[in-house]
Amino acid sequence: MKLHEYQAKAVLAARGVPVPVGRVVRTPADARAVAGELAGPVVVKAQAHTGGRGRGGGVRLAATAGEAEEAASAILGMQLVTEQTGPGGLPVDSVLVEEQIEIAREIYVGVVIDNAVGMPVVIGSAAGGMEIEQLAEEPPEQIHRAPIDPTLGFMPYQARQLAFALGLDGELLRPAVALLEALAHTFLEADCSLVEINPLVVTTDGRLLAADAKLSVDDNADFRQQALFEERDRAQEDRLEVEAQDAGIQNYVKLGGSIGCLVNGAGLAMATMDAIQYAGGEPANFLDIGTANSADAVTAALRLIGSDADVRAVLVNIFGGLARTDVIAEGVVRAKQMGLIPQPTIVRLAGTNVADGRRILDEAGVDVVRAEGFAEGARLAVEAAARGAG
Ligand code: GDP
Ligand code: MN
Repeated sequence: MKLHEYQAKAVLAARGVPVPVGRVVRTPADARAVAGELAGPVVVKAQAHTGGRGRGGGVRLAATAGEAEEAASAILGMQLVTEQTGPGGLPVDSVLVEEQIEIAREIYVGVVIDNAVGMPVVIGSAAGGMEIEQLAEEPPEQIHRAPIDPTLGFMPYQARQLAFALGLDGELLRPAVALLEALAHTFLEADCSLVEINPLVVTTDGRLLAADAKLSVDDNADFRQQALFEERDRAQEDRLEVEAQDAGIQNYVKLGGSIGCLVNGAGLAMATMDAIQYAGGEPANFLDIGTANSADAVTAALRLIGSDADVRAVLVNIFGGLARTDVIAEGVVRAKQMGLIPQPTIVRLAGTNVADGRRILDEAGVDVVRAEGFAEGARLAVEAAARGAG
């Protein structure tokens, strides 16, 4: 789950990270009022779950309260399109109005899980700001890394080393070390999958301030992080993913292609996506229904797939181990009869009760194509999607 910048800043500030003074508002009039209270130049920032807002027109400087109101009316209500959002963009219904800071240097610091070492790693680069994404592909020697050992935690010497590497020495060393430690503690205590401050600013008067903040909490930690999950903004999330969660389907991820996939087991789901790509198509989603021995669960999942406007063909690929393919077949038949999947539908069943499953499909008189093998199913789905698109 992602938090908004203003929420992430509150979480970080509570652990001692210095952030600019400001407030989140939902109307231009309130933006004007906050700017008036701040009594100086402000920055007005779209609150949306994406980076790259600066370049997408979602961050504006305003010298006066009147300008802040204008900036807020330009930003509020927009669909913010950035390099990270896709062409549809994200809705903006709040803006953060903050004191404008005078920037001497922009630094990048963050914490992510490094799967290669199996630990969280604190990352820093002296070249922060809006160009950091390009930098990650170019000179890696400018990126400094400090793994957080799960038994030792983030050690003071690591914070000092990193601060020096980022050029934060002299007067800035002590606040930099405190900030890096607060960052690492936030990551661990809030069960994060990502925390990022970009840019971390050195102001012209020699202070450190988090000018931007990003924070994602591991969805599996929802029961531990209830206060954070109450701040969830579902308007920022994919509509179909939200519906999937509401229907109790945990493993649904929307993807860019045209073939909707209903699969059981994450491994089979991955293999099915590979088979589709090998056959020349692109999956529209990743969906693992697990061992769903309920026709209702199958129908709910197919409702989701069928209502995705990008889906031109549906591939059901089930290997029945504990899952019973006859129950799956019943769910498919019902979804077809209810008109939930108007798209061409290819079904490949194998394993437990497969003879019953096939018979149910054949006798129901619904418009599905049965595939015997895995590769055949993928090929038929790709062909059907291509016909639908043409
Ligand atoms: P992002 O583009 O979504 O990552 O949004 P940021 O919050 O990082 O803002 C983008 C850029 O706007 C930053 O890299 C800064 O260069 C600039 N910016 C943000 N806040 C201020 C500010 O208070 N003063 C000045 N001068 N620039 C700012
Ligand atoms: Mn940023």
